[in-house]
Amino acid sequence: MSVAENLAQIKENIEQACQRCGRDPKEVSIVAVTKYVSVERAQEALDAGLCNLGENRKEGLLEKYEAIGAEATWHFIGSLQSRKVKEVIDYVSMIHSLDRRSLAKEIDKRASATVPCFVQVNISGEDSKHGLPASEVEGFVEAMEAFPNVKIVGLMTMAPHIEDEERLRGVFRQLRAVRDRIRNKGYAHAPCEYLSMGMSNDYALAVEEGATHIRLGSCLVGGQ
Ligand SMILES: *Cc1c(COP(=O)(O)O)cnc(C)c1O
Repeated sequence: MSVAENLAQIKENIEQACQRCGRDPKEVSIVAVTKYVSVERAQEALDAGLCNLGENRKEGLLEKYEAIGAEATWHFIGSLQSRKVKEVIDYVSMIHSLDRRSLAKEIDKRASATVPCFVQVNISGEDSKHGLPASEVEGFVEAMEAFPNVKIVGLMTMAPHIEDEERLRGVFRQLRAVRDRIRNKGYAHAPCEYLSMGMSNDYALAVEEGATHIRLGSCLVGGQ
């Protein structure tokens, strides 16, 4: 399937999910996750009208950036080693995987302008997932005031790979509840408006539960 064909189906699903919960589909941004696919396929995504592209490794980002450049808006969605920050920071518009103070410190030091970041939260508590436990997020966000180049624009999570809709909804709702609490504090350094949640298997549910950024790889551009 072409990216355009996949995108048409996905947009329809997003619209239906929005209808079910009274949201405006314009509130939902699609980040096309190109980590599994070629530069050509990433270019096809861009040609289909997708301007937000996501990569989870330094190598993939730099390879795609070299070919496509600033025509796309680049999202870093994978775990980021502090020593690699300086190599990617000039190319990424948003980082979805901020999960520790040392990383924030390095972003702050290396960035030439404010970097919008999502704090990654491990709602499900699975050992294999990166991210802060939900109980530590508020304190962490508060402490980010020390880093003027780090702006906390929202929270991100990866839901577990399960079919159980109610459990998935529970994960998304918990992230949203933490987001709401932080947003209501009105921090200048942390407006925390966005929710980066939902992937190929669960994006419709995530949209119903308030996702503003869904990260789609396999169902949109292709998977492994
Ligand atoms: C790979 C990846 C995705 C996309 O996963 P799909 O299930 O293929 O849509 C989304 N978010 C993160 C953090 C990823 O690493």
